[in-house]
Amino acid sequence: MLKNIPFVDLKLQHQPLKNQLKNSIQEVLEKGDFILGQAVEKFETSFATTCGAQNAIGVACGTDAIALGLQACGITVGDEVILPANTFIATLIGVLHAGATPVLVDCHAETGLIDLETAQKAVTPKTKAILPVHLYGQMVAPSKLQDFATTNNLIIFEDAAQAHLAQREGYFAGTIGTAAGFSFYPSKNLGCFGDGGIVITNDPKVGSKMRTIRNYGAPSKYVHEELGTNSRLDTIQAAVLNVKLPYLKGWNSDRNQAAQKYDTLLSPMREKGIIPIQNLSGTGHIYHLYVIRVTDKSPIKRDTLKEKLGIAGISTGIHYPIPCHLQPAYQSLGYKQGDFPNSETLSKQILSLPMYPVISEEQINRVVETIIQIISK
Ligand SMILES: *Cc1c(COP(=O)(O)O)cnc(C)c1O
Repeated sequence: MLKNIPFVDLKLQHQPLKNQLKNSIQEVLEKGDFILGQAVEKFETSFATTCGAQNAIGVACGTDAIALGLQACGITVGDEVILPANTFIATLIGVLHAGATPVLVDCHAETGLIDLETAQKAVTPKTKAILPVHLYGQMVAPSKLQDFATTNNLIIFEDAAQAHLAQREGYFAGTIGTAAGFSFYPSKNLGCFGDGGIVITNDPKVGSKMRTIRNYGAPSKYVHEELGTNSRLDTIQAAVLNVKLPYLKGWNSDRNQAAQKYDTLLSPMREKGIIPIQNLSGTGHIYHLYVIRVTDKSPIKRDTLKEKLGIAGISTGIHYPIPCHLQPAYQSLGYKQGDFPNSETLSKQILSLPMYPVISEEQINRVVETIIQIISK
């Protein structure tokens, strides 16, 4: 009996780090500095340096990184923020929690990344920021983003939750514009053992405002200068992240190599309508997810392929099955079916294949062979 191939394998990834992780957590227990402790400060400094940013401010999760990060950039009630319809719902929640008005736009059919040409039509005098999502680990082109922002006099705030250390045109994710938010949800390329997030920025004012906002709006104890909240990166989570950060680069490059293997093995399937999401950034793509499109040319539907892979012991995912504008909770935004055709088509075609740093060549072979068998039958 063949072993199942999981969608992600965190246990295997953490196995060699077991002692380091235990020691790092133990240190926090002994110090007892559970809130904004030494490990948080250490991680903020290392993460900022690794990304090439001046400031990093740890928060409770990636959603808060977006919501509070936008707030720290001065985005407020009445401001419009442009974001893609094709993203995880947290991007939209972040904008709403900042009090701003989300304006959704479509994505490119081949990359799934925000389409800045259609975004141009969504700009109004109230637009204050563009919120690109570096989806699946591939960055939106920095030069195009900067042109767009300059032309329209907008802030760029990046959703880099899937793009820790992704690179494009010489930029690291999170350093294109004013600020960016990251998530350390366990299965992200850099994940902790619970929830966590961070904002990075090169703007010292945004950095210090962010520090204040995440800590009850108080720059010093019991003096509340900003409308703040309680959203801090937990010290124990930071202790985990301090152990894992040095491995991130290697893990990302393992993922990129795994993706290249998938690409090569899957290339004969193009004529059968199986087409991987386009990579326009080479080794700068860090493949948080490896996503294929099961297009109309395919003899079988995406859901059938997913089901048959499941029966063959191969776990897959769909990121995401319903675009933001069609989610039941957000109907009051006033969007309808047909508003963002590329996002809607992708949501029906995409399938995420098993992807993690320790996935073996053998496992990749088996995934692709099984796809070929299913399609050719
Ligand atoms: C994971 C994710 C988030 C939110 O992160 P949480 O830590 O789960 O709050 C935001 N945006 C995108 C694109 C994500 O993938």
